[in-house]
Amino acid sequence: MQVEPQAFDRVLSSMCTDPHPAAREAAERFLATNPGDPGTYPNVAALEDDAIAMLGEIAGLSEPAGYVASGGTEANIQAVRIARNRAETDAPNVVMPESGHFSFQKAADVLGVDLRIVPTDDAHRADLEAARRFVDEDTVLVVGVAGTTEYGRVDPVPELGEIARSVDAMLHVDAAWGGFVLPFTDHEWNFSHAPVDTMAIDPHKMGQAAVPAGGLLVRDSELLDELAVDTPYLESTSQATLTGTRSGAGVASAVAAMEALWPEGYREQHVVSQNNAEWLADALEKRGYEVVDPKLPLVAADVPVSTFDSLRSRGWRISRTAAGEMRIVCMPHVNRRMLTSFVADLDRIECRASVPVTSDD
Ligand SMILES: *Cc1c(COP(=O)(O)O)cnc(C)c1O
Repeated sequence: MQVEPQAFDRVLSSMCTDPHPAAREAAERFLATNPGDPGTYPNVAALEDDAIAMLGEIAGLSEPAGYVASGGTEANIQAVRIARNRAETDAPNVVMPESGHFSFQKAADVLGVDLRIVPTDDAHRADLEAARRFVDEDTVLVVGVAGTTEYGRVDPVPELGEIARSVDAMLHVDAAWGGFVLPFTDHEWNFSHAPVDTMAIDPHKMGQAAVPAGGLLVRDSELLDELAVDTPYLESTSQATLTGTRSGAGVASAVAAMEALWPEGYREQHVVSQNNAEWLADALEKRGYEVVDPKLPLVAADVPVSTFDSLRSRGWRISRTAAGEMRIVCMPHVNRRMLTSFVADLDRIECRASVPVTSDD
């Protein structure tokens, strides 16, 4: 029996989405290519340059450099690796807000750096006073998150940049999820807003590319030299990526998605997704739940465990924050019809038919 992939019609917690049709088609065409070996696969290697040029434009980087990684995890690990290799300390530490992604735990473990976790403030953003206290001469990297995984918050990136500079550390921005929505907001998050050295930005999340397509951007291509190793048996002579063989599908589909959608398509999608998040937040608030205000298209609400479990048993793919709130990511496949049906199920579970569910799309 052939196993089918899941449908997206009840997926509310994923940070990935149904790829754009052009991205899906490009992924299929480039499935049998390996940008890890650019001497042998020059066409996909050229496409990767296009991908980095477009990612650079999205992220305000004037001379774009970087590569298409397997995802935000690899980009974050590599950013820590660059910072560690560039620094001269024997006891490197990385300063990151508690809202930072768990991939930094992996980076710290693999790379032997100490992770110093800065608390977040009432607005779920890095506490700057604490960050100032935590950095020292052994700090190699300060991390700011632009679109946190749990609450969709943007850390004060320019201020974190100043703190990093004060100890000659690098500044990394993790925009793995937020990078394709933040250009349409007034947040300060990118290379043109602050002295950002490295960034993670994932085409396979809000960018609507097929998995695997992450992005590592660096302010100066020389930073990639910190990662380069010699590659004796390949036609090319060195490699900066963490993976060796990697899928050209991700590269080609990232380019196809960005060509189809940057900037207008992404802008329109952001407006729709943000409206959906606000609609859902409003519907949940009216039902008496405590809701974390959705600054980006991500809603967290304090729903009882029993209700959460009933929703899951009805097939809704939802997840929880570390603090226990239900978390819903308004990705491009999440439309108003889905959310209306979700809220209707919530009402059935809570037997609370008093608030009519309305849909205006
Ligand atoms: C998803 C995410 C990551 C990890 O990216 P993968 O593509 O899953 O490896 C890192 N940081 C943030 C903020 C994310 O949302």
